[in-house]
Amino acid sequence: MKALLIIDMLNDFIKPEGSLYCGKMAEEIVPEISKLKKEFREKGYPIIYLCDAHDPNDEEFLAFPPHCLKDTKGAQIIDELAPNSNDLVIYKTRFSGFYKTNLFDVLKSLEIKELYLTGVCTSICIMDTAADAFYRGFKIKIPVKAVADFDENFHQFALKRMERIYKAELIP
Ligand SMILES: [Zn+2]
Repeated sequence: MKALLIIDMLNDFIKPEGSLYCGKMAEEIVPEISKLKKEFREKGYPIIYLCDAHDPNDEEFLAFPPHCLKDTKGAQIIDELAPNSNDLVIYKTRFSGFYKTNLFDVLKSLEIKELYLTGVCTSICIMDTAADAFYRGFKIKIPVKAVADFDENFHQFALKRMERIYKAELIP
């Protein structure tokens, strides 16, 4: 069984007026993720959103400007990729979707073996989630047109590193 993970496709990251806008590249992956969502839904595979949701005094704001504050518009999934009623939404406070969340238990209970990682940023939340997935024995697939980063060099490096180190399969 496989699952689609849609990571941090939230207003603060994807919309130009967001507080931590990831740039044009991040906007450009929206149609590709939409397409994947449709394919997964048609085949009955789970779709899981991993969403940053911070308290105002979160330590992450020592390194990044405040973003995705709990229960604000900035922390909401962009309208274009709004979840359907049977999609799962998991909130996180750090880069990895596995850190202090129930993601692993959810994946286990659904008998998921293969994870398709999509969203932002390739070198941060995608790569850290890939690392934790790899440690837990999941096969990782990355549709490269469905991930983005505000830094093109980090994007390219992260893809190569995930392929080499976590045995991620890059899907062109
Ligand atoms: Zn964050």
